[in-house]
Amino acid sequence: MNALIQKLIELQSLELRAGELRQQIDSFPGKILQIEQGVKAARDAVAAAKQRVLDLHKDRKKLELDVEDWRGKIKKYKDQLYQVKSNEAYRALQEEIRNAEAEMGRAEDRLLEEMVGGEDAEREVKQGEAALKQAEADAQAERAKLMAEKAVVEKDFGEADADVKDHLAQLPTELVDHYKRIARRHGGVAVAEVHDEACSMCSVRIRPHLMQLLRQSGEEEIFHCETCTRILYYVEKPAPAEGKSEASVAEAGS
Ligand SMILES: [Zn+2]
Repeated sequence: MNALIQKLIELQSLELRAGELRQQIDSFPGKILQIEQGVKAARDAVAAAKQRVLDLHKDRKKLELDVEDWRGKIKKYKDQLYQVKSNEAYRALQEEIRNAEAEMGRAEDRLLEEMVGGEDAEREVKQGEAALKQAEADAQAERAKLMAEKAVVEKDFGEADADVKDHLAQLPTELVDHYKRIARRHGGVAVAEVHDEACSMCSVRIRPHLMQLLRQSGEEEIFHCETCTRILYYVEKPAPAEGKSEASVAEAGS
C-alpha cells in the first residue's frame, strides 16, 4: 500500500482515539457535579428537617401560651360566677366557661400532636444527618475513583496527541490540509477502505476503472470515492487456499 496512505490511516485512528479521550476528559466535570449535587440534596434535606423542628417548637410555644391563656380566662370566669347578680348573667358566664374549656381542650390536643410531630422531625434530622455522612463518604470515594480515571485518560490522551503530532510532522502539509478538509466534513473519517469493490463508509460501488487504479496505485497517487470524496485505499485479500476448498468438497461428498 501507498506509504502516505498508511500514515494517513494511522493518523486518522490516532485522531479518533484522541477525540474520544478528549470527550472523556470533558465529561469529568459533569460527573463531579453530579456527585456534588447528591451531597447537596442530602445536606438540604437535613436543613429542611432542622427547620421543621424549629417551626414545630415555635408552634408548641404558641400553643402552650394559648392553653395558659384559656386556663386564665376560665379561672377569671369562675371567680366572676360568685359576683353576678342575675341568673341571666350567671348562665352567660357558664356558657363562656364551657367555650373556654372547649378551646383549651382543642389547644391541648394540638399541642400533643405537635409534640408527636416534633419527635418525628427530630428523628428525621438524625436520619438525615446519618444519610448525609454516608453521602459525603460515598462522594469522596467516587471523586477519588474519578480522579484516578481522569489521570489515566489524560495520560492516554497525552500519548495519542503526541503520536498525532508525530504523524502530522511526517506527512506533507498539502496532504494533511487535504485530509483535514475531508475529515471535517465526515466526522473525522477521511480515509475509507474499499470492501467488495465499494466504499466502506458510504457503501457506493467503485467503478471498475478506479478499482483497477487502486490495485495498481503507486507511492504518490491518491484516489477518492466519487460519492463521498473520502480518500480510498484497497488491501488485496489473499486468494483462498485451493487445497482447503477441495478438502471441504471431498468432505461434503463423502
Ligand atoms: Zn464513499
